[in-house]
Amino acid sequence: MTYYIGAHVSAAGGVQNSVKNAHEIGANAFALFTKNNRRWEGPPLKQGDIDNYKRFLEVYKYSPKHILPHASYLINPGHHDPEQLEKSRRALLDEFQRCEQLGIELINFHPGSHLNKMSEKECLATIAESINIILDQTTGVTAVIENTAGQGTNLGFDFEHIAQIIDDIEDKSRVGVCIDTCHAFAAGYELRTEEGCDETFTQFDKIIGFDYLKALHLNDSKGAFASRVDRHHSLGQGEIGETPFRYIMQDDRFRNMPLILETIEPAIWKEEIAWLRSLEK
Ligand SMILES: [Zn+2]
Ligand SMILES: [Zn+2]
Repeated sequence: MTYYIGAHVSAAGGVQNSVKNAHEIGANAFALFTKNNRRWEGPPLKQGDIDNYKRFLEVYKYSPKHILPHASYLINPGHHDPEQLEKSRRALLDEFQRCEQLGIELINFHPGSHLNKMSEKECLATIAESINIILDQTTGVTAVIENTAGQGTNLGFDFEHIAQIIDDIEDKSRVGVCIDTCHAFAAGYELRTEEGCDETFTQFDKIIGFDYLKALHLNDSKGAFASRVDRHHSLGQGEIGETPFRYIMQDDRFRNMPLILETIEPAIWKEEIAWLRSLEK
C-alpha cells in the first residue's frame, strides 16, 4: 500500500481530460466534477468521452478506488422545502449515476444546510433519508460525506453530525467520510501540532470510526482556527502550517485512499504533490 496523492483537476472539454491533467502533475489519485458544478443540470456524458476516460485510466494506471468526484455545490440534501429537497435529490442521484457510468466507486458531497428553517437534528435526518433513497436506486457507488467548516448554516462541521447521519444509513457498506483539513481546522479541530493531530484523529475514530474514512482533502486555511470560515490556502502557507501534512504522510491509516489537494494555486500542485511525497516515511 502506498499513498495516493492528487488534486481536484479540471475536466474541461470532457471527463477524459481529468485523467491527463492528473497525470501531468504527478498524481496517482485525483478529484473532478463530472458536470458543471455551478449548474443544476448538465448534458449527459457522451459515450465517446466515457470510453476515452476508461481507456486513459488504463494507459495512465489509475484505479477507480483513488478517484473522488465532487458533487455540485448547489445540492442541499437536507433542504426543508419539499420541492427544493426533491430538486437536490434528483441532482445528487444524477451525480451518482454519472459515477456508475464511469465506473467510479466514490462520490464526495457536502451534507447540507438547515437554513435556519429546521433543527439540526431534523436536517441531519433529512440528509440521511436523501442518502438512503439514492443508495436504493444505485449500485457500486459509496456516498462520501465531507466535513464542513460550518460556514453559514452548513451542517457536518462537528464529527457528531456525520456520526448521526451514518447512524441512520441503511446500507452502511456504502457510506463513508472525507475529512477536509481546512474545514476541520476552521471548525475548531486542532491540527497545528502533532498532539493536536493525535487528538483530532482520536476524536474522529471515537465518534465516527476510521473504518468510514474513505478520503482526505489536503488544504491549508486562510481562515483562523475555529473561525468557521471556509477559505483554502496552499499547503504550509496558511494558518495551519506544515505539521498535519507531514503527520498524514507518516501515518499508515491514510494509505490506500485518495488524498486530494483543493489548494488555491493549481500552478504549484505538482510541487505540492512532490513535497508530500518527500515526507513519506
Ligand atoms: Zn467539498
Ligand atoms: Zn474539501
